[in-house]
Amino acid sequence: MDLVAYVDQVPASGETVTGTAFRQVPGGKGANQAVAAARVGADVAFLGAVGEDAFGEELRANLVDCGIDVSGLRTVPGVSGVAHIVVDGKGGNSIIVVPGANGGVAGVVGGDASVIEGSAALLLQLELPMEAVVSAARTGRELGVPVYLTPAPARELPAELLESVDVLVPNQHEAAAITGRADPREALAALLERVPEVLLTLGGDGSLHGRRGTEAVHVPARRVEAVDTTAAGDTFCGSFAVARAQGRGPEESMRFAAAAAALSVQRHGASSSMPTRDEVEALLG
Ligand code: ATP
Repeated sequence: MDLVAYVDQVPASGETVTGTAFRQVPGGKGANQAVAAARVGADVAFLGAVGEDAFGEELRANLVDCGIDVSGLRTVPGVSGVAHIVVDGKGGNSIIVVPGANGGVAGVVGGDASVIEGSAALLLQLELPMEAVVSAARTGRELGVPVYLTPAPARELPAELLESVDVLVPNQHEAAAITGRADPREALAALLERVPEVLLTLGGDGSLHGRRGTEAVHVPARRVEAVDTTAAGDTFCGSFAVARAQGRGPEESMRFAAAAAALSVQRHGASSSMPTRDEVEALLG
């Protein structure tokens, strides 16, 4: 759950200030990608955990409202994962993520593997413990399901994880943090030494895609008036994976994802701002 406080100036330690607004919105990178994929027409199942608190009920209900199968979403004792976000008067933000229930997810258990087995893609992020992400990636690989990984929040990526990843989907900052290369094309080349396919998102500069042995492809972002870019990357990743799973090639899938993300940045909110398939198709013409 994203708990967002707006304030002119972020308080220093020991200081109390009056904020200008507060919003509570369902978030989480996994949930956002799940909603993005569902909105553009995919059948989505979500694996993870929420706590036994009011946030847990609301997070579950939000996924159900989006038509997502939550049979693999556990409710566990304790609190749900929260992101405590402070947005300052200049639009900058600072975020504290408290994993809560997500921190206790150990890996693929029970019927999880059969959910993964029937899927056209498995989308992973790093908001669960690394052992859980590695376990899921390995299961996807063993079952022949394409494994996508959004390496966020950025952290060290162990070889045992990357060896089971088919498509890495970092943003520019994550790619630079992983490779030490600020230049996107250099970062892309470095990442392709570790995984077979990379989709690098560049915010308003679009996206860059590469596969081993082929030329990199750049697709520009659509020129729009952005009012809130929260979850633009998750919208892009979820839409791209759906387009690929439905047989579109990488470049066509990037255009589809760019249209979906462009629609989302023109609206406020995270999952609530994500477009439907009809809206994306209408924009693509
Ligand atoms: P977030 O963390 O906000 O979810 P991100 O950093 O993971 O985002 P970005 O690289 O910022 O992801 O954006 C993903 C995609 O969204 C871009 O490739 C682009 O297609 C689209 N996008 C982002 N910002 C804009 C913008 N200002 N105008 C149009 N499209 C945008």
